[in-house]
Amino acid sequence: MVKFKENVLLRDYSTFKIGGISKYFIEIKNKEDLKKIINEIDMPFRILGGGSNTLISDDYYNGLTIVFKTDKPKFLIEDKGCFGEIIVEASVLLSFLVSKLKEFTGLEWAIGIPGTIGGAINGNAGAFNESIGDCVTSVEVLEIGKGVREIEKKDCKFGYRTSIFKNNPNLIILSVKLKLNKGNPSKKIKDNFEKRKLNHPKGFSLGCIFKNYYGEVDKNILKKYPQLKDFYSEKGYISAGMLIEECGLKGFSIGDAKISLEHANFILNLENAKSKNVLKLINFIKKEVQEKFLIKLEEEIQIFCI
Ligand SMILES: Cc1cc2nc3c(=O)[nH]c(=O)nc-3n(C[C@H](O)[C@H](O)[C@H](O)COP(=O)(O)OP(=O)(O)OC[C@H]3O[C@@H](n4cnc5c(N)ncnc54)[C@H](O)[C@@H]3O)c2cc1C
Repeated sequence: MVKFKENVLLRDYSTFKIGGISKYFIEIKNKEDLKKIINEIDMPFRILGGGSNTLISDDYYNGLTIVFKTDKPKFLIEDKGCFGEIIVEASVLLSFLVSKLKEFTGLEWAIGIPGTIGGAINGNAGAFNESIGDCVTSVEVLEIGKGVREIEKKDCKFGYRTSIFKNNPNLIILSVKLKLNKGNPSKKIKDNFEKRKLNHPKGFSLGCIFKNYYGEVDKNILKKYPQLKDFYSEKGYISAGMLIEECGLKGFSIGDAKISLEHANFILNLENAKSKNVLKLINFIKKEVQEKFLIKLEEEIQIFCI
């Protein structure tokens, strides 16, 4: 019988440092242990990786929280000539994997992202116009009530910060098969790391809160705000950060939850922000952007409520 910790404070497992008590708690490092636990337990549970994309409620969670994360990258590389097939467990931190793959190119965008492979696959994490789904061949999952199976890339429904996994909590990601070309990634990794250091605010956060906006924009709005029009025509989307900044919201705060002065799509927890402060701030931002630009922002982050 597995022994769980009891009454564990989840803020310690979030990069946002927000989150209440979970009645039961366990940290798992490899997929064999994860399969065993999930097959044995008979209570509600939820999975966290690096906790870097999830706003966790401050309310008491009457279930089991499983943190599936390791900083000991466990992966297999099969050399196929000009490319390699890499099989990596979902618990591995993305940045650790990138730092270990010195002869393969395709994951350089991920340097500095503080999550796990599982969390990245779930939300199809990406940056600099690339995302993890681009290099996935297949994903091994444990489907609750059905067992272990392999999902081919075409069935993963990867899209902009979305996937089949994000919409189906019964699919637990165990491992991933990636296809990466041979090449030296070091210069690109260094450049991307520098860009991140320049553009990303320091402090407790979940990265970008909202997705960029790819939908239609009202013609009158574009006429009224030429800066939006220029951005939209050049890139084909409007940056959520730009919309928030144009609403004059940089630096605005509710409790200890503050919109970053450096990057308006980041909310920072100054010290003791509550999940309710963040939710209020998110709703306030959405309302302001909707009223001014007739644009409905959508959250990129995931929310663990009760
Ligand atoms: C400073 C900073 C910068 C960031 N920059 C970026 C960026 O450039 N691009 C980007 O896309 N994101 C970025 N993020 C957000 C985040 O780091 C990524 O989305 C990351 O991939 C999330 O991984 P995680 O393990 O932390 O996920 P978590 O927050 O732990 O989990 C996210 C979701 O995935 C689910 N999940 C986790 N593991 C599994 C699993 N094994 N099986 C099934 N479901 C699972 C969880 O239940 C939850 O619903 C940034 C965050 C921070 C704090």
